[in-house]
Amino acid sequence: MKRSLACLIFLSLIISGCSSGDKEPTATATTTTTPAARPALPANLVDGKRIIAADAEPGNWLSHGRTYNEQRYSPLDPINAGNVGQLGLAWHIDLDGKQALEATPLVIDGVLYTSTVWNVILAVDAATGKELWSYDPLPRRDWTRYMCCGPVNRGLAAWGGNIYEGTIDGRLIAVDAATGKLVWETQTTDPNQPYSITGAPRVVNGKVIIGNGGSEYGIRGYVSAYDAGTGALVWRFYTVPGDPKAGFENPAMEMAAQTWSGEWWKYGGGGTVWDSFAFDPELNLVYVGTGNGGPWVREIRSPGGGDNLFLSSIIALNADTGEYVWHYQTTPGENWDFTATQQMILAELEIDGAPRKVLMQAPKNGFFYVIDRATGELLSAEPIVPVNWASHVDKATGKPVEIAENLYTEEAKLISPGPNGAHDWQPMSFHPGTGLVYIPIHEMSWAYSRDPEFKFKPFGWNAGQNPNAAAPPGATEATARGALLAWDPIKQSKAWEVDLVHPWNGGVLSTAGNLVIEGAADGRFVIYRADTGEKLWEMPIQTGAVAGPITYSVNDEQYIAVNAGWGGAYVLMGGGAGPMHQGPSRILAFKLGGADQLSPPPPPPVMPEPPTSTANAEDIAAGQGLYMGLCGNCHGFYAISGGINPDLRYMSAETHGLFRDIVLVGIRRGVGMPAFNDVLSETDLEKIHAYVINRARETYQE
Ligand code: CA
Repeated sequence: MKRSLACLIFLSLIISGCSSGDKEPTATATTTTTPAARPALPANLVDGKRIIAADAEPGNWLSHGRTYNEQRYSPLDPINAGNVGQLGLAWHIDLDGKQALEATPLVIDGVLYTSTVWNVILAVDAATGKELWSYDPLPRRDWTRYMCCGPVNRGLAAWGGNIYEGTIDGRLIAVDAATGKLVWETQTTDPNQPYSITGAPRVVNGKVIIGNGGSEYGIRGYVSAYDAGTGALVWRFYTVPGDPKAGFENPAMEMAAQTWSGEWWKYGGGGTVWDSFAFDPELNLVYVGTGNGGPWVREIRSPGGGDNLFLSSIIALNADTGEYVWHYQTTPGENWDFTATQQMILAELEIDGAPRKVLMQAPKNGFFYVIDRATGELLSAEPIVPVNWASHVDKATGKPVEIAENLYTEEAKLISPGPNGAHDWQPMSFHPGTGLVYIPIHEMSWAYSRDPEFKFKPFGWNAGQNPNAAAPPGATEATARGALLAWDPIKQSKAWEVDLVHPWNGGVLSTAGNLVIEGAADGRFVIYRADTGEKLWEMPIQTGAVAGPITYSVNDEQYIAVNAGWGGAYVLMGGGAGPMHQGPSRILAFKLGGADQLSPPPPPPVMPEPPTSTANAEDIAAGQGLYMGLCGNCHGFYAISGGINPDLRYMSAETHGLFRDIVLVGIRRGVGMPAFNDVLSETDLEKIHAYVINRARETYQE
């Protein structure tokens, strides 16, 4: 009854009708709450027709990548290469703390909607930054223990007067775009498994498409579609096969299971859909990017070999039924955390004299792919950074050719790219005018080594990598370089490149004003000429903006906006990035002649004198091992914080006194510090504390 009512309400909105909403869910039912009758629908509704025709209203940013083709290109040109020198800050909102901001905002009819830290959704006047409403879904903050990279969220979706968000603890929520009141919420994951959501939903044909993350924690990836009006599950597609004894959900899973061996399902398998989607309304295909294997090491995961479908793949699914149509696997037998969850851009390119409907992706593995998006046929693939795990991608087979001597089966190997990839989630942009794709790339090699002692830990980090591996020859020359790369996708060659001082930079926007816009890790927001890469404008913003910028207009005045809050995997684990996160995380909007000012950043913290310790070298070394496994993911390897979570070397005497209760009892759960009493003994805790004190003393004496 409820569903039929929603069908009536949404009848005028849903392109392909409501029938699909009446299909039985293909997986276990989810709990759905509908707290109150829907308020009257606002005048300006977002629907598929409107998103498909987004170029007719370039002042809005209606979907994550602006359009379903995810190009992140705007036809707006009042701000252009001729006048961008007059750009200034229009308004800004300082948030509490320095947690990462990764969201691309939406702008709908003068209102800017964005997700911020801990899934708090903000709606503000897009011309002034004045807050209209906020909604806090109150996610479980200690869930960060089961997430690699902090309590981040990459954005929202809009449909039929609602705003949608996936929460870190696996819920999909719908709030009223006009009031910020909850409309419905549903748990999309088993709360007793370490799934999390950080990606932005998309809404196609009245269905909210959402995935999840956590491949390293021992889970099985999937993508789901929920009825946008009611929150009822419409379809679900698993990306890797489960235990064959339980039967296969569909023929695609049966086919995929032929490419696995051993008892992979005991590790979950991975293949999580944690970020990217695209939609072709003519083909009615939803494209899904899948993640790495869990564990990374394929000899552990699938000891008899095999491609391990659908890890590290692009999968095309029927948008209404979730049925498999085709796949292209970028990294068969994934072995390096080479996800294919990176953004997918749909475009029409002239290839060998004929127009082709293509899909483009620069996944972690270092190659740039152009694929026929109707069939999945590989059209071309060339490396965009130095690659030494494969020599090339064979056009005949569509597969990369691995370099056997660089496999780390027997001994550690220094491999390029590493687990952060040549390109991670930071979105790229395609400019139809220049024909170039602008990619935030990094060159970061990494020493891979199989952990000979590996034992699967439910809810634990299960990459299967050896934390104590001796560095392989050449590891001291490991690269860490970042650049903004302008890539010609037809010639598969570099058009221009801007060298950046740090590898981990921001997502990219391009505009018809011949502009390419990107935050740099060293705390600058920078605009370049799209055709040549010449720098036209920059402003210090006190933090590395990693999110994708947007542009929009209100009353014919163009704005450029970005969420600025340094963070992500590389920063949390890599540390050493403190100077790049001086100010708080903030939302910034720019316009020509804007005269708003940022407050000066606070002075750098002063280190209190660390306590003395009588721990011996052996206990400190044991503490380091425990720290690296349990604490380093958030507080930085070697206790050098990336400036997001507390730098433990700077703990006050009071915090040292509370160390046991914080780590074992969980007295700071409420601010995101989980309890570890299930995996740490009192003695282990003392060893970790001794290691942290030792690191503090080393720093204090420098
Ligand atoms: Ca991963």
